[in-house]
Amino acid sequence: MQIFDAIIIGAGFSGLYQLHSLRDKLGLKVKVLEAGEGVGGTWYWNRYPGARCDTESKAYSYYFSKELYEEWNWSERYPTQPEIEKYLNFVTDRLNMRKEIQFNAQVTDLIFDENKHLWRVLLKNKEQYFAKFVISAVGCLSFANVPTIPNRDLFSGEVYHTGNWPKKNPTLKGKKIGVIGTGSTGIQVIPEVAKLAKKLTVFQRTPNYSVPANNYKLTEADQIRANEEFNKSKQLMLQHRGGHPWKHSNKAAKKTNSVERKKLYEKAWDNGGLSFRDTFSDLSVDLESNNTASNFIKDKIKSIVHDHRTADLLTDFDHPFGSKRPPIDTNYYETFNQKDVELINIRNNPIESFVSNGIKTSKQHYELDVMIFATGFDALTGTLLNMNIEGNNNIKLKNVWKSGPITNLGLLIPDFPNLFLITGPGSPAVLTNMPRAIEQHVEWITECIHFMITKNYQTIETTSKAADKWGRTVHETVNDTFFLSAKHSWYLGGNIPNKPKVFIPYAGGLNKYRELCDMVALAKYDEFIFTQKK
Ligand code: NAP
Repeated sequence: MQIFDAIIIGAGFSGLYQLHSLRDKLGLKVKVLEAGEGVGGTWYWNRYPGARCDTESKAYSYYFSKELYEEWNWSERYPTQPEIEKYLNFVTDRLNMRKEIQFNAQVTDLIFDENKHLWRVLLKNKEQYFAKFVISAVGCLSFANVPTIPNRDLFSGEVYHTGNWPKKNPTLKGKKIGVIGTGSTGIQVIPEVAKLAKKLTVFQRTPNYSVPANNYKLTEADQIRANEEFNKSKQLMLQHRGGHPWKHSNKAAKKTNSVERKKLYEKAWDNGGLSFRDTFSDLSVDLESNNTASNFIKDKIKSIVHDHRTADLLTDFDHPFGSKRPPIDTNYYETFNQKDVELINIRNNPIESFVSNGIKTSKQHYELDVMIFATGFDALTGTLLNMNIEGNNNIKLKNVWKSGPITNLGLLIPDFPNLFLITGPGSPAVLTNMPRAIEQHVEWITECIHFMITKNYQTIETTSKAADKWGRTVHETVNDTFFLSAKHSWYLGGNIPNKPKVFIPYAGGLNKYRELCDMVALAKYDEFIFTQKK
């Protein structure tokens, strides 16, 4: 029987830093179980053409070690998937972590043994391990949402989901390709596939607002400056509600005259990237202000796309700007000016079934050699609920979360002792620059386990009362924002049939959240119940 102090599930950004922290700071015996063949997590699986991070590379790095930061040079403003995967491999080897990671290790069951105070961890290949602590580092966007389209077996072509893209890149050149989905992923994959396809058909249900990325190569001077500004950037990110290295505007769109407003939007558009959302302070709380951003983007799209019908379809928005995660792009709208690219509205012409040589909608038949699903994820809860997780008295997580996830601070679940979640539901997670949220969680969990060791505690658990209170906070925090108006958003479970429709992340900001977590630690985790080792 192999017993570890801690088992970490997942070897992405969070799993790797958690391994380093528990092993090198606390001296614990740790194992990481990773379903993939390599490290990377999200950045291992999402290797579709055009996969690139929307956060700037200098911010999308670990900040726990200045030395580590300075040893890595990013080549572009936004890092590509292959470069992030290389970076995470570099970190793994630099910190000598590979030997603790078991690859091809898919966890199927986590069962808590109340007598032994141990988690039993079962793998798909029937191996099993035991651990005092389990830390879920499974990622927020790791369970692919694959729509059920009838007659899949009839289709003689290839089918891929962007979130499970094959390691050996499929040949797309010269083929008739269909893409379903126009979220952040679709918006990245479409321009790249359009360069290769004989004919590209984009099946759009809902258009999304996208802002140019304005990507560029980084120079040696950029690298030197970034290293010099390490502390300043870190501070900026710690203060920003989304963990990004810029200041949130304190200017309301509503109180700015139209000429000045347009000037500021133009400047933000030219700069490119996610900071466009922060042009004004009131875009997420005032619909009239939000409309000024929405109309600005609409005008931009219409000035880029030549065909009026296509431009209308691309701007037929059903939600305020930013209420769904807004993508950034490189030549997305320009791609629709290619004569071999067609945009199909599947809202009024829904897909009915696959046929042997393509797909059939209610109005037409489209010939395809390849179908690409860029249809997103069962976000934040999908991967956890796909495992059999049993806590006290064999209570199942599936039952506890039947009406939506219940956690305290997104970190612990009542009745599931010693099981920590990194960027779990109820934490700011996907509303942030992920490495900042991950570092905060990993450091909090490490401190908490350290506290338990010094006190000779065996288990930590949150009460249902504390978790319910946190649930109300998550709910009240989002209530004043526009997030609830995007009914189909994955933040709300709106993209998955039968998923409870509750807003999943904490929308109060990572800066505020960090303060709350620090207060809990300062109060010696008084919201939690500990048992003493016998
Ligand atoms: P997504 O935002 O959920 O978008 C999925 C797309 O597929 C939507 O257009 C959706 O249409 C469509 N879709 C889903 N099910 C469908 C169905 N049954 N029939 C027709 N259309 C369907 O997923 P994503 O684009 O993969 O992005 C998810 C998140 O991953 C992003 O929001 C972002 O946080 C992250 N991400 C980040 C990056 C980056 O940093 N560069 C890149 C990619 C993704 P509806 O809108 O009508 O539901």
